[in-house]
Amino acid sequence: MPGFELFDDLEKQHVQDVLNSGVYMRYGFDAARQGVWKSKQLEQAISEYFKVAHVQLTSSGTTALTTCLAINHIGYGDDVIVPCFTFVASVEAIISVGACPVFVDIDESLTLCTQAIKKAITPKTKAIMAVHMCGSMANLDEILKICQENQLVLIEDACQSIGATYKGNYLGTIGDAGSFSFDYVKTITCGEGGAVLTNKKNLYTQADGFTDHGHDHLGIDRGADQHPFMGYNFRISELQAAVGLAQMSKIDTFLSLQKKHYQIFETILKQNKQIKFRKIWDITGNSCTFLSWFLPNEALTQQFVDALKKENLLAGNFYWYVNNWHYIKQWQHILKGPSLYKLNPCQEQGLQRINLEDYSQSHRIMSCCISTLISLKWDEHVIEQKANKYLEILKKLNIE
Ligand SMILES: *Cc1c(COP(=O)(O)O)cnc(C)c1O
Repeated sequence: MPGFELFDDLEKQHVQDVLNSGVYMRYGFDAARQGVWKSKQLEQAISEYFKVAHVQLTSSGTTALTTCLAINHIGYGDDVIVPCFTFVASVEAIISVGACPVFVDIDESLTLCTQAIKKAITPKTKAIMAVHMCGSMANLDEILKICQENQLVLIEDACQSIGATYKGNYLGTIGDAGSFSFDYVKTITCGEGGAVLTNKKNLYTQADGFTDHGHDHLGIDRGADQHPFMGYNFRISELQAAVGLAQMSKIDTFLSLQKKHYQIFETILKQNKQIKFRKIWDITGNSCTFLSWFLPNEALTQQFVDALKKENLLAGNFYWYVNNWHYIKQWQHILKGPSLYKLNPCQEQGLQRINLEDYSQSHRIMSCCISTLISLKWDEHVIEQKANKYLEILKKLNIE
């Protein structure tokens, strides 16, 4: 990760097809486009590869998540459980449909702690958004059980885990609906883009309309379409879908490089017995976008991060605990506002309550966690050098 590391002529060729046709929009203009339907083709390719019945492309991962919520009728007065470690887009999607995020602790898997989920469920809870952070999965069997017992919708945020599996099924295809992001730093990128995945026909039909102003897409004349419900413009453009199509054809290469590089890196780090690694519920399903590891305590982790910074080696290593985008500790703009537009009373009350919650379990985990981005462009020599350098720094800090 990210997929842009292996951009080549193939992306250019697909974009050139669209430029030649002159039709940059995904719907309509049937005659003019001369058979070029990149968005449709990409949806087909995703559906086949990830073995999911239906795919709806969107303008981003954020709008894909918003769509996942909308098609499950989540809105005003509903609570959605979401982990306190995620990219903030998961939270934005919940707020944008009028629902209220309920932040729940993570465990050593860096995903939702199932004990904490159980404690957080109330009559207002309508859905769980399981975020498969950093290339690997949430505890899906347990979460599915909780959803069944409490009649909750399961939405999978698989934006960071494209190509990862759980017990043989691709992440994003297991819950009621799942989302991918194709933003610039994801496994598959088209600059900006996303996808909703679902096996439920009725949810797909709604996603298809919701992302295009409610159009039913039943006729051949877009202007004569009916609008059975309200929607938005969450469309992807043909230019972006063209890039995505090229990237999709490389996904096996991306995943096998990630896995190979991850293994070499992990094997070297394992020489240091003080390092612990992230819990992974299905080890064979890891997409290996990041290697996430723990140092013994917060102070040592901070010292290690400082040492990396001093040696100009911090790039590609994420200490999420102090990161402005991914961890609750830094989400003051959400916890305290302001919102540019007026939130509904349920949201305002819900967000107030969150300021009183105790996230010490997550703080303990995240304050010791480093995620190293696994680059597609590394080779064995580069990885060995890098990992050995980390071991050397740890030794200097007396972590050995
Ligand atoms: C990237 C990401 C998103 C949102 O994707 P965009 O395409 O950037 O809107 C949502 N959730 C997670 C976990 C992500 O990493």
